[in-house]
Amino acid sequence: MAKILAVTNQKGGVGKTTTAVNLSACLATLGQRVLMIDLDPQGNATTGCGVFKREALPTVYQILIGRSSLADARIATEFGFDILPANRELAGAEVELIEVGSREYRLRDALASAAGDYDFILMDCPPALNMLTVNGLAAAQAVMIPMQCEYYALEGLTDLVATLKKVRANLNPMLEIEGLLRTMFDPRSTLTQQVSSELEGHFGDKVYRTIIPRNVRLAEAPSYGKPVIAFDRNSRGAQAYLSLAQEMLDRRDGVVRAHAGETADQGVDA
Ligand code: ATP
Ligand code: MG
Repeated sequence: MAKILAVTNQKGGVGKTTTAVNLSACLATLGQRVLMIDLDPQGNATTGCGVFKREALPTVYQILIGRSSLADARIATEFGFDILPANRELAGAEVELIEVGSREYRLRDALASAAGDYDFILMDCPPALNMLTVNGLAAAQAVMIPMQCEYYALEGLTDLVATLKKVRANLNPMLEIEGLLRTMFDPRSTLTQQVSSELEGHFGDKVYRTIIPRNVRLAEAPSYGKPVIAFDRNSRGAQAYLSLAQEMLDRRDGVVRAHAGETADQGVDA
């Protein structure tokens, strides 16, 4: 059965989409069957996988409003994983869902039939706690939280933890924190180092040992419609996401090993 993860953080621009796309591609490279769901009307994860938004119909929108099935809407990308695309239309789902029953569980119910087809289902959530994110959190077994190690990140995290508590109380009692991922890491910054160790102090093993460095190839890849591993496999960004994928598999399988990503001479490149 698939492990269903929501990549979420209500703070914008922390690397949610970059993580959803690149982790999907890296898990697929490591032989996993992966479905990525774009839950953001911006559709960045969709275009980042080389799927054109206009052509990508039906989308997750039709699934949420009950007009399409997962089997009809998913698309096989050229990178070894499937995607359930999104486009601007998805913004309308917010309003339309108000009129349908059990609106928080639309996605969960739609995924039930596909859970056996995949090892991982990753959802790219929008930077807001709206009905789309709520559908993601209701469908997920756990959340993956990308964050930048800056001062306000910790404040944002407090809000997120409070949100998760509410979701557990009202919608999805089993929802766990899968892990916190340090993204766009710049080891030259003292504040970054401080926030990073505070994070480890608070969340311990929940913090992935793999750290994603700031890497320009990660920012460039989406404009070519490719995950970074298909764009520049040797880049530090590609290697970091591969290492994260391996860490997730090791955790799942109970393997203990030293991680390259842990020590990855955490320099930056411009
Ligand atoms: P939103 O909240 O708007 O959905 P997000 O959390 O999905 O944003 P991304 O879109 O993944 O964040 O990243 C924000 C910007 O930072 C993008 O331009 C992306 O290319 C860039 N970026 C993400 N991760 C890295 C990284 N490790 N190194 C360099 N640039 C990065
Ligand atoms: Mg995004």
